[in-house]
Amino acid sequence: MDLTYGEEYDELRSQVRSFLEENWPPPESAAREEGTRQFRQAAIDAGYLYRNIPKQYGGSEQAPDSIAAQIIREEFSAKHAPMEIRGIGMMMLVPTLLERAPDWQKEKFVAKTVLGEITWCQGYSEPGSGSDLASLQTRGVLEGDEWVINGQKIWTTSAREADWMFCLCRTEPEAKKHGGISYLLIPMDQPGIEVRPLNQMNGTAEFNEVFFTDARTPADHIVGKRGEGWLVSRTTLKHERNSIGAAAQATATFDGLVQFAKDTKRNGRAVIEDPVVREQLAVLEGYVKAHEYSGLRQFSKDAKGESPGIISLMNKLHSTNIGSMVAKASLEIMGDDGLMDPVQTGLAKLGNIPTSSQMWLNQYMYSLGIAVAGGTANIQRNVIGERGLGLPRDHYADRSSGK
Ligand SMILES: Cc1cc2nc3c(=O)[nH]c(=O)nc-3n(C[C@H](O)[C@H](O)[C@H](O)COP(=O)(O)OP(=O)(O)OC[C@H]3O[C@@H](n4cnc5c(N)ncnc54)[C@H](O)[C@@H]3O)c2cc1C
Repeated sequence: MDLTYGEEYDELRSQVRSFLEENWPPPESAAREEGTRQFRQAAIDAGYLYRNIPKQYGGSEQAPDSIAAQIIREEFSAKHAPMEIRGIGMMMLVPTLLERAPDWQKEKFVAKTVLGEITWCQGYSEPGSGSDLASLQTRGVLEGDEWVINGQKIWTTSAREADWMFCLCRTEPEAKKHGGISYLLIPMDQPGIEVRPLNQMNGTAEFNEVFFTDARTPADHIVGKRGEGWLVSRTTLKHERNSIGAAAQATATFDGLVQFAKDTKRNGRAVIEDPVVREQLAVLEGYVKAHEYSGLRQFSKDAKGESPGIISLMNKLHSTNIGSMVAKASLEIMGDDGLMDPVQTGLAKLGNIPTSSQMWLNQYMYSLGIAVAGGTANIQRNVIGERGLGLPRDHYADRSSGK
C-alpha cells in the first residue's frame, strides 16, 4: 500500500506552505474579522479555497483534484488557518444551484452565500415526514406570479437566523408521491412565516418549527421544473468529496478523549491508569484506525475518478457511530461530573474538540442528534443493505428517502 501522494504534489505542498507563511496569521493590527476576510480572499485568489465554484460567483474555479484539495486541507489545518465558510447554504444549496439553477439564480444567490452575506435553512422535514420524506404535505400553489405556501416544517436548524429557506413543497397534488414535489426558495422575513424554537435538553434551541400561512415567494424562485423537486434535492457535491476529513475528525476527537483520560483524576490517579478504561480506549482505537483506512480507500477511489460506491455510505455511518462511542466513553471517564449541566458554549460542533467535563457532556448530547440528522443510522443501514449487499428492499418500500 502506497500512502504517498506522488512527487508531482510536493511542489503544491511547498507553495501552500509558503502562502500560509506569508498570510496566516494576519498582522496583529488588523481587526480579527477583517483579517480573516482578507486571508480568505487571498486564499481564493491563490486557488486554494472554493475550488469548485466558478470565479464569477466568488470561487477560485479549479479543476477537480481530490489530492490537491486534501493537501490544502492538511496544510491549512496544521496552521489552524480558516478554510471555506461552511453552513447549510454553502454545503447543500450552492452545489445544487451550480448544477441545476438558471444563471440569474446563481448570480443572485451563490456569491452572497459563499461570502456569508446571506444565510439559509433547510425546509425538508415535517411532523409526519422525516425518513419517509417524500410523504411531505406542505402545499405550494401558484397564484398569478407567486407561489403561496401553507403547511409546517420541523427540526429546521437555524431558521430564526436564516434569510432564506430552500424548501420542498407539494405543488402537484395529483402526481405520484415523489413526482408531486417542487424545490422552492422562500424569503424568511415575511408575515406568512412564523418560527418557533424547540428547546433541547442541553439548554440550547438550534431547531425550530416553521409555520407557513399564505407565505409567498415569486413564481420563478423554483429550482428545476415543477414536480422535479425530489430529483433536485438529491443533488450532492460531485467534486472533491471530503473523504478523509470525517476520519481525521474522528481521530482528533479520539485523541482528545485520550488526553481527557490522562488529565482527569480519580482517587488521586489519572483515569487512564484504570485497566477498564484502558481496555475501552484500545477497543475504540481499533474502530478509529479502521475508519481512517476506509477513509483512505474512499479517497484513493476519488483521486482515480472512480465512484466510491458503498464505502462513502459506510464511512458516514462509522463516523456517527464512532462519535457516539467516543462521547459515551467520556461519560465514564468523567464519572459523577457527568451529572453536571453542559456548558452553553456551542463548542459541541464538528471541528471542535472538547477539553472539559462539561464540554464532553455537551458533545455526548450532540452525538445523539448527529446519528439522526441528515438521515438516521437505521436508514443508512437499509441503503447499505439494499444497494451494497443486494438485499431485498425493506417492507416499507417507499420509505428509504436516503435523506
Ligand atoms: C441535529 C439535527 C439537525 C436537523 N436539521 C434539519 C434541518 O435543518 N432541516 C430539516 O428539514 N430536517 C432537519 N433534521 C431532521 C432530520 O432530517 C430527521 O430527524 C430525520 O430525517 C429522521 O426523521 P424523523 O425525526 O421524522 O424520524 P422518523 O423518520 O420518524 O424515524 C423514527 C425512528 O424510526 C426509524 N425508521 C424510520 N423508518 C425506518 C425504516 N424504513 N427502516 C428502519 N428504521 C426506520 C428511524 O431510524 C428512527 O430511529 C435534523 C435532525 C437533527 C437530529
